Amino acid sequence: MRIYLDHNATTPLRPEVLSAMARVLGSIHGNPSSVHAEGAAARAEVEAARESVAALVGARPAEVVFTAGATEANHMALLGLGPPRPGARHVVSTVIEHPSVEAPLARLEARGFEVSRLPVDAGGRVDPEQVAAALRPDTALVSLIWANNETGIVQPVEAVAALARERGVAVHSDATQIVGKHPVRLDAVPVDLLSLSAHKLGGPKGSGCLVARGGATLVPLIGGGPQERRRRGGTENVAGIAGLGVACALARAELAPRRARYAALRDRLWEGLAAKVPRVRRNGAAEHALCNTLSVAFEGVAGEVLLQALDLEGVAVSAGAACASGSIEPSPALTAMGLSPEQARGSLRFSVGHGVDEAQIDRVLALLPDLVARVREAAGA
Ligand code: PMP
Repeated sequence: MRIYLDHNATTPLRPEVLSAMARVLGSIHGNPSSVHAEGAAARAEVEAARESVAALVGARPAEVVFTAGATEANHMALLGLGPPRPGARHVVSTVIEHPSVEAPLARLEARGFEVSRLPVDAGGRVDPEQVAAALRPDTALVSLIWANNETGIVQPVEAVAALARERGVAVHSDATQIVGKHPVRLDAVPVDLLSLSAHKLGGPKGSGCLVARGGATLVPLIGGGPQERRRRGGTENVAGIAGLGVACALARAELAPRRARYAALRDRLWEGLAAKVPRVRRNGAAEHALCNTLSVAFEGVAGEVLLQALDLEGVAVSAGAACASGSIEPSPALTAMGLSPEQARGSLRFSVGHGVDEAQIDRVLALLPDLVARVREAAGA
């Protein structure tokens, strides 16, 4: 039996999602744009999912634009946002954004925009005061990840959004890691653009959305048909969208118990680790960590080597972001908090989720002391 502790990379499909998708793939073959009954049936699936996503994040259904995941949603938010004011060519962001935000930021720079990338403190958080100080009369947008994928540190999005709103600056947040694990309510927090992805919350890969609140006008990145209210051309991925809808409905129904359960598993893992394995350190401010994420620096260990040793024992974890695996570069999100390159390379990310139980955590805790000792011994550390 494998033990999967890499839910921040992706999550297994929930059976409820699988059966909804199988039903759609098997029996709903119309094109949602067609006016006949087959088309209407497909349209109904897409619109039901739109309502489910909107209900989870406190938005209106019309504000949900389905995409092929959060990477596309992030590009849509940064490259597709029509300039709110003529001449606004400055963007405020951070050094801990996911590569799918960093890439469009770099593209904006190539187009003549200026980007201020704010640092984080030792706990992994951005300081809202620094955001306030970075805002300029020509700032078009603030883009702030809601919870970092590697550290799990939740950012002060509420405070940042409030102060940006006061100054009339639009706010985008990549909420891919936090949605489904923590309340995210756009009716309470003035975020204009929100990206999320189905496969981080028990849904399918290749399905996600951008939630574009009221006033946010979007220039479509992908033209063609009039789908998604002319904001994203192309026949809808009906099964993927239906899967996202079910994943969001499950998240909405389960949010409170899910959070408590994930946090208990995560804490059991950290407490056991801290008690059994010498020379370990938790990365990031524990009080701001996402309920399911534990990032740990193992002194004198190459994270990749420990990851492989765990893998051989049937345990899946991650060293840095999955998107960057294969690279031995220390994780920028960890070095940004002040970890040395060695500490960052010696860090592993454990992320729990649906299907993980106490017995699995205890099995990992039984394995780790010996594995870490062996890896340290081999490295002469
Ligand atoms: N943003 C964050 C914070 C992520 O963790 C990920 C997934 N690694 C993405 C964006 C990209 O999402 P997707 O895989 O749906 O393109």
